[in-house]
Amino acid sequence: MSRTRTGMGVKPNMTTVIHDTTVVTGEENAPVHHGASIAIDGNTIAAIGPTDEVTARFPVAERVSGRGKAVMPGFANCHTHFTLTKNRGITENSSYPEQESHPMPVRFPRSLPLSDEDLTVLAQLGALEAIRCGTTAVMEVGANIDVYAREIVDSGLRFVLGEQASDRAHGDIGEPGPFVVNQELAEHGLQSIADMHSKWHGAEDGRVTVGVAAWAPDMCSPELLVRLRELQDSLDTVATIHLNQLWGEVENVKANRGGALPTEFLAQIGYLNDRLVAAHCRCMVPQEERILGESGSWVSFNSAIAARRGLSPHVADLQVAGCGIAMGTDNMAEDMLEVVRTGMFMERVRRSDGRLPSPEEAFQWATSNGYRAMGIPDGGSLRVGNKADLIVVDTRRAHLVPTIRVVSTFVHQGQGRDVESVMVDGRWIMRDGRVLTMDEDALVREADRVGRRAWRRLLDSDPNFTIPDGFDFNTADPD
Ligand SMILES: [Zn+2]
Repeated sequence: MSRTRTGMGVKPNMTTVIHDTTVVTGEENAPVHHGASIAIDGNTIAAIGPTDEVTARFPVAERVSGRGKAVMPGFANCHTHFTLTKNRGITENSSYPEQESHPMPVRFPRSLPLSDEDLTVLAQLGALEAIRCGTTAVMEVGANIDVYAREIVDSGLRFVLGEQASDRAHGDIGEPGPFVVNQELAEHGLQSIADMHSKWHGAEDGRVTVGVAAWAPDMCSPELLVRLRELQDSLDTVATIHLNQLWGEVENVKANRGGALPTEFLAQIGYLNDRLVAAHCRCMVPQEERILGESGSWVSFNSAIAARRGLSPHVADLQVAGCGIAMGTDNMAEDMLEVVRTGMFMERVRRSDGRLPSPEEAFQWATSNGYRAMGIPDGGSLRVGNKADLIVVDTRRAHLVPTIRVVSTFVHQGQGRDVESVMVDGRWIMRDGRVLTMDEDALVREADRVGRRAWRRLLDSDPNFTIPDGFDFNTADPD
């Protein structure tokens, strides 16, 4: 077996055949091959077909039994912030006001006392959870991603690093107030994106790319958004933005941008385009949905956080308008299966329809649509010639048998921990339940310590904060 060294990872330069298994292609109309095999050659899917045919074609390949398992495309998470693992259990019930009539809850400051090393540990924790739950591609959105980029890239996941710019001097997303520009912040953001692009775009044989991220319409001036759009064109890459996330954002944009709604504002300055991932799109009126659809933008339906906030995008209307639907976790669990199921259920409630969207459609939002939204057309479905990004699901579980209609069973009944193995770019990053790219036990211990210490210090330092119910001070070791 020959091996070629690429970047920090060792990639097998050989053929693997997973045989006697169920292959879920994730293609249109959800074809599933039973009693089948899939061959992976280098970083590409080389064959899918009946086991005897595929094994005869690749006689010297490494054989991996797929009996009792299903091979599926991995999930594409189109919107997350890995370092927000720091907030688990603390901030979920203290959201920004969703409606004007709601009072402002206790607000925690965005910046916990965390060093770069602490942030890196928390970001790696997010990557670990993503792998364990079957994610293969991630759009990580944030400012100063370079602090932890090396370590999350070494997790083996496929990444679009969405370095984020903003230039609002005072106030946070969803907060009222006049828009004052902080020019230094704007220049820093633009430079960071350019720097990230030259450092990371195309790294690891193309496994890593860099996109342009604007924070939100109420956090960016028109001048900055115009320059970000120009930067997207000059870098020839994808872009993203938090869009129509909160009603407070809508009110702020109307007040500061001559009465325009957020999507109208973006359309006026030319930020919308068919390589844009618009995250959330919840507080949106029909005329904005039409505008967004006409631009061909993708929507990242971040269903778990939408449900948590009691808000929902009008997914069916956005589809009719022309938007493609992808999915993301945002601040919530890095579990895309939870996102798929929550999204399907939410949309069924919204439509008063017990059948639609189908599990196959929701699965496609979170796989092939996500890859396309991230600018990776040859991924997210199991097809000959596509990138070998896949998961192996153990279907011999109490909650998964009888596994007759595998996608429906997995979407309705599955759990993230049913994912047994994960391959990205032809390389196993989790195999038989063991993550191969990280020391999982050490990382979990360290992340727990980092998180506890940061919250203890914050709550100790400011008497204005009410200690959340159930906060464990006794074991919250300050060191
Ligand atoms: Zn977000």
